[in-house]
Order: sequence, then structure tokens, then C-alpha cells
Amino acid sequence: MYPVLEKGVKTIGSLQVRNRGTIGGNICTAAPSADGIGPLLVLNTICEVSGITGSRQVPLENFFTGPKQTVLEDDEILTSILIPPVPYKYGGAYFKYGRRNAMEIALLGISVYLVVAEDNKTCTDIRIALTTSAPTPIRVGKTENFLKGKDLTNYDNLSEAGKVVLTEAKPRSSWRSSAEFRYELLEKLVPRTIKTAFSRAVDEGNK
Ligand SMILES: Cc1cc2nc3c(=O)[nH]c(=O)nc-3n(C[C@H](O)[C@H](O)[C@H](O)COP(=O)(O)OP(=O)(O)OC[C@H]3O[C@@H](n4cnc5c(N)ncnc54)[C@H](O)[C@@H]3O)c2cc1C
Repeated sequence: MYPVLEKGVKTIGSLQVRNRGTIGGNICTAAPSADGIGPLLVLNTICEVSGITGSRQVPLENFFTGPKQTVLEDDEILTSILIPPVPYKYGGAYFKYGRRNAMEIALLGISVYLVVAEDNKTCTDIRIALTTSAPTPIRVGKTENFLKGKDLTNYDNLSEAGKVVLTEAKPRSSWRSSAEFRYELLEKLVPRTIKTAFSRAVDEGNK
């Protein structure tokens, strides 16, 4: 039902890491590069956290306060994640840019969720999240709004979205990659990931 999530978590570490690690641990580590978080962001996930005085719900988008920092108080743990149902005909894609096929921290992660309109060209909903592109995982609302109503079969529109996203992302330089390289990757790979999600929505529906 949530293939975009499957595509993201399948890239975590190795078989051994995936067998032992939990999605709660992936979220609470709050790494800017976490492979499970981008897909969960585009699925509009809500986190339920519980502490001594009770429980509260926090949208995942508001869960991170900085690199490896969350809104969790000292007495709180993450007890559930709530993912709203998705329509059958949605397309999801996760693109992890790394240098190896396993045991690799993402140089960049792009998650896309979109629902195609009846005209098979525009979308009724589009959500895009980035990892390793800012101090925390982020949704890029300006880019999402730019694409609403646009013909997504016209690659020029997707290329333009690749430019808009550069005004929202704030990647840093690290020993893995310079910020400049990450900007270049974003410009080229965001359009491609949208195209993949669009094709999946049209051709496969929810796969
Ligand atoms: C070799 C290796 C490779 C890895 N590769 C990747 C990768 O490619 N992509 C990726 O995203 N991650 C990767 N990781 C990071 C990590 O393993 C995963 O993010 C995993 O999902 C963590 O889950 P866990 O249950 O083991 O969490 P833990 O390591 O047990 O916990 C992580 C942190 O979160 C806290 N925590 C855990 N659960 C909760 C909760 N329910 N409520 C509150 N706090 C909580 C813990 O106290 C701790 O501070 C890798 C780790 C290793 C060791």
C-alpha cells in the first residue's frame, strides 16, 4: 500500500541492519540523511509520542528541530506512526544518490508522491521531500506548488522544478560531497524522480 516507503527503507544499510533496525529508530535518530524519513514525509505521516503526562500527535514535518534533534521531551518516546490512506492511483519514487549499492549514507535523497489527474498530464496532489539537503529532512512546498496544474508530461516543466528546488534546499559541504555538487544533483535528479513517480502512477498505480 505504501510502495514509496518500501523503496526508501530497502536502501537502508544492509540486510542485517534492516533486520535489526526499526522505523522508529530511523526517525528518532533524526539524521538529515535517514532513508525512511523522506518517504514518510511525503505520506504526511503523523508521529504519536507518549510521556509521563500523556500522548500527543506531531506531524513528522514538525518533528525535527535540527540535525539529530527532535521535539521529543526527556520523558517522551515515539509510540506510533500514523500514515493516512493513499488513493490507488498514486505514484511514489525514492532516489538515493550514493557511491555504493549497500552500506551507504545518502549523499542525497529525493522522495516524490503524486496523484495524477484524469487528463493523465497534471496532478491533483504532489509532495516532494529531500534528505541530506538541509539541516533536517524537509518538504519543498514552493516546488510542489510550482508543479500544481503544470503538464508533467512536458519535461521542460520538470526541469524548471529542478531550478525552483534550489531556492528551497540548503545542502552543506561535508567530507562526502561539496554543497555545489549536491545543488547540481538536485537540479538534475528532482525532475527525473518526479518523472519516475509520474510514470508509476500512470502505468502501474500504487506500485
Ligand atoms: C552499519 C550501519 C548502516 C546504516 N545505514 C543506514 C542507511 O543507509 N540509511 C539510514 O537511514 N540509516 C542507516 N543506519 C542507521 C540506523 O541503523 C537506522 O536508522 C535504524 O533504522 C535505526 O533503528 P534502531 O531501532 O536500531 O534504532 P536505535 O539505533 O536503537 O536508536 C536510534 C536512536 O533513536 C532513539 N530511539 C529509538 N527508538 C525510539 C523511540 N521509539 N522513541 C524515542 N527514541 C527512540 C534511541 O534512543 C537512539 O538515540 C545505519 C546504521 C548502521 C549501524
